[in-house]
Amino acid sequence: MIIAIDGPAGAGKSTAAKLLAKKLKFLYIDTGAMYRALTLKVLDKDIAINDAQSITELALSSSIDLINNPDGSLKVFLDGRDVSADIRQPRITQFVSEIAKIKEVRSVMVNLQRKLGEQGDAVLDGRDIGTVVFPDAKIKFYIDADFKERVNRRHKESLELRQNITFEDVSLDLSNRDNIDSNRKVAPLKKADDAIYVDTTNLNIKEVVNKLLSFING
Ligand code: C5P
Repeated sequence: MIIAIDGPAGAGKSTAAKLLAKKLKFLYIDTGAMYRALTLKVLDKDIAINDAQSITELALSSSIDLINNPDGSLKVFLDGRDVSADIRQPRITQFVSEIAKIKEVRSVMVNLQRKLGEQGDAVLDGRDIGTVVFPDAKIKFYIDADFKERVNRRHKESLELRQNITFEDVSLDLSNRDNIDSNRKVAPLKKADDAIYVDTTNLNIKEVVNKLLSFING
């Protein structure tokens, strides 16, 4: 069974998806991490962000693996190297949406995501899971929260990662990514018609997971 979770950054998608997958003993597939891993390689190789052809070639020649640990955490490997921490750097967050809007890059990633998901039961989170990657997913959620609350959450996370980022920086990043992700031509962020809308603004993570479980078991 495939569970698709989409929504904007900071809505609580990935934390909820990870916990849900652990509870259900499903594979957890963080599709944003895959775009982030490619972005890391593009930046490290000094490839121009608008050089779609070189970036596509890089996507085709790279190996990106997601490993689920028994404790529920996820490790991301790029060409065999653990990049789980590196892909959360602000410089990656700043450019990832520019790379994720390239049509050919998306088709490489979507193929990979389908292959991973087809291995068995899986929870996938991203922006286009219910609309493009697995349009026939058994259960689809669209997870959202008020903008200010999303900024608050991301700012708190960045402080925990000891990143020196202000509330204003996070706010700018989120509005920039919301804008690019929602307005791109290919697979824009939007709620699938048959997705269940969940507003997490006033819910803690436990409440979010319980709410999702109530729909899955219901
Ligand atoms: O989920 P996360 O915030 O880590 O995703 C980083 C970026 O990757 C998003 O802002 C978006 O540009 C891109 N992304 C995407 N499609 C997905 C997952 C992520 O375009 N399925």
